[in-house]
Amino acid sequence: MTIETILPTPNIFDAKRILCIQPHYDDNDIGAAGTLALLKQNGAELFYLTATDDLMGVVDGSLSKEDAAQELKRDQFAAGKIIGVKEQYWLGYPDAGEYDYFALRRDFLKYIRIIQPDFVFTADPWLTYEAHHDHIQTGLAAAEAVMFAGLTKIASSDPAIDATYTGHDIKGIVFYYTREPNQIMDISSTWETKIAAVRCYEVQFDQPGMDQLIFALDAKSQQVTAGESFTRGEPLKILHTSALHCGF
Ligand SMILES: [Zn+2]
Repeated sequence: MTIETILPTPNIFDAKRILCIQPHYDDNDIGAAGTLALLKQNGAELFYLTATDDLMGVVDGSLSKEDAAQELKRDQFAAGKIIGVKEQYWLGYPDAGEYDYFALRRDFLKYIRIIQPDFVFTADPWLTYEAHHDHIQTGLAAAEAVMFAGLTKIASSDPAIDATYTGHDIKGIVFYYTREPNQIMDISSTWETKIAAVRCYEVQFDQPGMDQLIFALDAKSQQVTAGESFTRGEPLKILHTSALHCGF
């Protein structure tokens, strides 16, 4: 018997319902849209949950808070339509601001218990040199919420949801923005779809900024395929949920 037989790396092509928990409006798509578009084509339903209000990233300083919020959602819906996102949810924590880790985890638990995904995608909170606290906080709270979803003594932010939730099987957690991938996904067939979705995030990038982002994604998607038989890739860390504790 090996560790791999006890905690096998789950096959993400088995995914039926995927909850993608992101710090900001564009992270799921920048980090994993190629893979998510593939899984959607494979029959999976996609649900996006955004932790913060993302207002600090809005380029046009003359926009009111309300207008900026509306335009961010417009961009996200446009991108979501391209990838095939079924439902979008927002928590509205202050972008780059102060908020409570445990409140965030309770909200993630709530949506995990409502949506009952078999896979959860999020940003890798252990990415070395990641300085953005929203990314670290969101990735870690999402991982903990995945681990604790079935422990109903651990409360979510909605007692009514907790009262009716009886547990469900989460097959795996998938980290994007990772320096320790265990799978390079072949996104050759969905690369153009990913870039079309990323280009929807107009409120957060001026033209040079967007061009730079696309250039960086382009270079990275090719760099990660060294030694592979395809030319465009997304690096992912895919883990059995029981691998989220004590180093197994
Ligand atoms: Zn972000």
